[in-house]
Amino acid sequence: MQKFIGYKCSLCGKSYGADAKIYTCAIDGGNLDVILDFDSIKKTVSIETITNSRDNSIWRYLPLLPVEKKIGDQTPMQFVGGTPMFRHPQAAEFGINDLLIKDESRNPTASFKDRASAIVVTRAKEIGSDVVVTASTGNAGAALAGISAAVGQRSIIFAPKTAPSAKVAQLLVYGSQVILVDGTYDDAFDLSVLAATEFGWYCRNTGYNAFTVEGKKTASFEVWEYFYHQQALQGAKNGVVNFDNLTVMVSVGDGNIISGIHKGFKDLYQLGWISKVPRIIGVQSEGSAAVANAFNNHSEEIIPVKATTLADSISVDLPRDGVRAVRAATETGGTYILVPDEEIIKSIALLGKIGIFSEPAGATAYAGFQKAVALGLFDQNSKVVVFNTGSGLKDVNTAMKAVQPAPIIEPTLANVKRLIKG
Ligand SMILES: *Cc1c(COP(=O)(O)O)cnc(C)c1O
Ligand SMILES: [Zn+2]
Repeated sequence: MQKFIGYKCSLCGKSYGADAKIYTCAIDGGNLDVILDFDSIKKTVSIETITNSRDNSIWRYLPLLPVEKKIGDQTPMQFVGGTPMFRHPQAAEFGINDLLIKDESRNPTASFKDRASAIVVTRAKEIGSDVVVTASTGNAGAALAGISAAVGQRSIIFAPKTAPSAKVAQLLVYGSQVILVDGTYDDAFDLSVLAATEFGWYCRNTGYNAFTVEGKKTASFEVWEYFYHQQALQGAKNGVVNFDNLTVMVSVGDGNIISGIHKGFKDLYQLGWISKVPRIIGVQSEGSAAVANAFNNHSEEIIPVKATTLADSISVDLPRDGVRAVRAATETGGTYILVPDEEIIKSIALLGKIGIFSEPAGATAYAGFQKAVALGLFDQNSKVVVFNTGSGLKDVNTAMKAVQPAPIIEPTLANVKRLIKG
């Protein structure tokens, strides 16, 4: 059964066939939505098909993905997704029913981006591409490099020379060909597209390749399954998950993760497996707010900014998936929240105190959650899922700004006593 039946432009609605060699709409450059044949999927796939799967990765959702078969058994490819949701111990103090942190740092290359790279690399193998290329501030590249290494796919990464060194180290260790660009992420993006066109490479770029959203939507499937099992434990009969009180919060740069999360819930709604698409709230740094600005102007016109945030993974001048990112909030009764970098840094320490080590862009959603509480966006029935999108090990320099330096002492017990008292 061929599930993937084509693309549809998110701006003008033009359709393209599944065999079109295309990234964005030929008419207006709009992002393309992958179209799946849900009528035939519904005939062969039930809720139990998924929930009975013994695969604990994104591959348990293969029947809902636009690729035909999984690759990379017994490699890191097989361990993408299946990330834990941790219950925050202080949900009650925030005046809400439940607070869960979905920890994407547990992916093979330590960020949410693995979900996208897994599907793009699988697609590359299906269409027989020799080389996959991407521009990246770090994580998309690390994910492409790591997943490619796992399954023997050649990859090339363009990153700004300012990318944090841990991320550059990942690219190099995974054996990608790494090209550092003396410019911004946006410069790297444009160059990677030029090079891909020139050399016929398959381009993974976020907000450009339509398959990234399809990988990222698996995070929503995991959120759904978590609540499905909870509801089943409480004796629910028909299996349709009630999402009336659920809010999902995630940080936004290019807007592709939030679009993927939105797509995942829309798929589930189309299947009739959830009561509604939950409210989705995007969080941006005040220093990189192009999507939030459009949302606040009630507009889908994405006006570029000069990004200045220290949260490198969401530092974007021109979001490449801005329109769908705005819609993720407008179509779900959600909103956009802006936080200053100081709050992002504080949130790294706050998440640390409950055992979660996040990079700045990962802690951004949690900073947004604190602000959302202050803005009165929740009540005592609210359940909130906050994504940590990447590991703190990716950027230890910024992590150190979130904490006091440790004291250095002469090795005597007297010194220890003095410190412990203080
Ligand atoms: C890429 C990334 C984001 C933002 O995703 P977009 O699709 O660019 O909006 C957030 N956090 C981390 C850690 C990322 O790597
Ligand atoms: Zn179009």
